[in-house]
Amino acid sequence: MLNTYKTILVNKKQLTSDVYLFTFKLIDPPGLNFIPGQYLIMKVPKNKELVSRAYSIASSNTIRDSFQLIIEIVPQGLASNYLVNLKENDQAVFQGPAGQFQLRKNNKEKIFLVTGTGIAPILSMIKSNFQFSIFNFQLFWGLKNYKDIYLFDELKSSFTKATEDKQFNLKICLSREQNLDMIPEPDRKYFELGHIDVVFNKQFNNEAMKQWSNFEFYLCGRREIVDSLKNFLISKNIPQENIVFEKF
Ligand SMILES: Cc1cc2nc3c(=O)[nH]c(=O)nc-3n(C[C@H](O)[C@H](O)[C@H](O)COP(=O)(O)OP(=O)(O)OC[C@H]3O[C@@H](n4cnc5c(N)ncnc54)[C@H](O)[C@@H]3O)c2cc1C
Repeated sequence: MLNTYKTILVNKKQLTSDVYLFTFKLIDPPGLNFIPGQYLIMKVPKNKELVSRAYSIASSNTIRDSFQLIIEIVPQGLASNYLVNLKENDQAVFQGPAGQFQLRKNNKEKIFLVTGTGIAPILSMIKSNFQFSIFNFQLFWGLKNYKDIYLFDELKSSFTKATEDKQFNLKICLSREQNLDMIPEPDRKYFELGHIDVVFNKQFNNEAMKQWSNFEFYLCGRREIVDSLKNFLISKNIPQENIVFEKF
């Protein structure tokens, strides 16, 4: 059963030309419980009706009285127009939480292949009670250009939690840049040129890494990209049951 949440927008921060971070405070009921990876359904006014749009929760589930969403504003989008015009202290209604895109409890190495705002549920997983000491994890985040990156410092600091015996790896894959010259030298190790699948192939070309049954893949982003990444993994003989995905 989905709950209905009355909220107010307490903070709206523009992260890039078309991506915003929204923070909503819960009014009634005053708290939200969710599993990292889940989404909420926003009720968007259209004429005299309300239509639904899903948004993955990007904040930690240890924070109960508010939540954050990372949303790309698409031209002429119904919810996009509503959100871009929503002002601090305005009310908004959500239902949820919903969705099965959740970390599985096992000690398999987790590989996240996400594009654009598909980073949102992964941020929630990382910021919640992520079991950093239990498994290795690798995050490949696909964006077009360097200017499209946001919350980089936050991500980087999560990756410094690596321990000696656990491997954490962050690769931001820039598909439309020609070189990485604009990136400050200390940060360059986090970046690669090319689409996610190309960067992933480069990283995993070592035969010893191909113990696929020890890996679990989490895909998130626009529908076409998730479908194509899923086909790419299947073509590499990754068992379907090791692929978990959320299509936007
Ligand atoms: C489970 C789930 C979780 C989601 N989580 C997020 C999230 O965390 N962050 C987020 O930004 N979105 C997320 N989405 C997508 C979101 O629900 C909306 O589809 C998106 O915000 C567009 O809605 P809209 O009403 O503004 O556009 P619509 O009015 O639905 O569409 C307007 C036009 O824009 C096109 N369009 C739709 N999306 C895009 C796009 N991304 N780029 C270019 N054109 C597009 C449509 O095809 C249409 O032509 C999620 C979707 C699902 C199913």
